[in-house]
Amino acid sequence: MSATFVVALALEGQLRLDDQPALHRAVALARHQSPGQGKLIVLACRPPDQRLRGPHQRRLEAQALACLRTRLAAAAIPLLHFPQHTTAAALELLAPRVRPQVVLHGQESRLFDDWPLAQETFPRVFGEFRRGLGRAPVPPLPVPDLEDLGGLRLEGPRGWLEADPQADAAAKHILPDPRSAFPFVGDEASGLARLGHYCLDSDGLRHYKARRNGLVGTEFSSKFSPYLALGSLSVRRIWQTVLDYEARRGADDGSEWMKQELLWREFFLWTAQRHGASFGAPGGLQNRQIEWSEDRPLFERWCRGRSGHLLIDAQLNELLSTGYLSNRGRQWVASHFINELHLPWTWGARFFEWWLIDAQPALNTGNWAYLAGVGNDPRSFKGPPRRFDLERQVRLYDPEEMHRRRWS
Ligand SMILES: Cc1cc2nc3c(=O)[nH]c(=O)nc-3n(C[C@H](O)[C@H](O)[C@H](O)COP(=O)(O)OP(=O)(O)OC[C@H]3O[C@@H](n4cnc5c(N)ncnc54)[C@H](O)[C@@H]3O)c2cc1C
Repeated sequence: MSATFVVALALEGQLRLDDQPALHRAVALARHQSPGQGKLIVLACRPPDQRLRGPHQRRLEAQALACLRTRLAAAAIPLLHFPQHTTAAALELLAPRVRPQVVLHGQESRLFDDWPLAQETFPRVFGEFRRGLGRAPVPPLPVPDLEDLGGLRLEGPRGWLEADPQADAAAKHILPDPRSAFPFVGDEASGLARLGHYCLDSDGLRHYKARRNGLVGTEFSSKFSPYLALGSLSVRRIWQTVLDYEARRGADDGSEWMKQELLWREFFLWTAQRHGASFGAPGGLQNRQIEWSEDRPLFERWCRGRSGHLLIDAQLNELLSTGYLSNRGRQWVASHFINELHLPWTWGARFFEWWLIDAQPALNTGNWAYLAGVGNDPRSFKGPPRRFDLERQVRLYDPEEMHRRRWS
């Protein structure tokens, strides 16, 4: 009888089965390398470069993991959870019980597999990036058939095979605020349901361009970001669904604008990868030296939502209570932090990264650096950072002060 051939899939923060290329490779290897003897195990570890997640995102992560565990259990495939360990460290712990013959790693969901430009020639500006695309995003893969790949008997400490009690306690402790613009569950099934609802079953996508600057409620924007940050929804699946919408109803402002925003995400992900540490350094990609005021008491008040500016404090209260903030709200808060308080932008970015339910370091840093005038904003290459006139913004986007009344 031939020996069992074990393939481990390390999710690396990609908490879904849909459009998971590494899962396809794992299944193919397990089936063909050793017909009938191939077994799959799945590891959920801390990706090596991932900082500790904040409380709102941890709640969602626990939901996404619970859903995955149930779906894998249906095929008798164990999901081994090592919240504190990297994949390499987890494999060492596992070694006395099982040594997988092959370990495959999940990769962050992106529209393109690679971006061929070298660091020196990588576009500094989004428009240039977009014009240089010249190819269509890679289409998503379906969930592969997992039958017969489970059943590996694996005894381990309780925590590996069951929900992490600490993470669960944290998740339960922080119930979503009923006023939240993101009252949803973070697992894959909920992400796909939201995608179908927003793009196909409601007028969400059709009105996206007109409504995306809203501040209150679930429908002013897609709310895909928390799913994307956890990898419980694939960006290629979103793009494909937008194409399905266009095939049914025709392309319109809403679908075009959604594709544009997904390309912004792609732009920041590749930019962060190409530039490494300078992307998040205080001087940013421009290596620009700016004098900031390192006023810690002011920063501490701001962190508690007590900046003294009613509009900003309402935004911060929403962020602290729910983890979600509209794109407009994020821009206002960052612009005020940078231009009025003159606090170091990296402090604000770090604070956002802890509290945001969709915290994604490359997108967070890219947007903060852009607004601080050290990143990819072409206007800032030769002048000061862009500044939002908050009084005017409120008249435009919250004339009846709905947001302020809700969160003051
Ligand atoms: C200071 C600041 C910090 C931010 N930090 C994050 C972050 O940590 N994580 C995060 O996902 N987004 C971040 N954003 C971008 C944007 O605010 C959110 O992606 C968006 O508000 C999420 O809600 P949504 O999914 O409903 O967005 P929608 O408007 O429906 O957009 C759809 C998708 O497009 C992408 N997208 C939209 N706007 C942007 C943008 N400005 N930059 C890059 N991608 C974009 C996102 O993946 C988003 O889910 C930040 C923006 C600012 C100004």
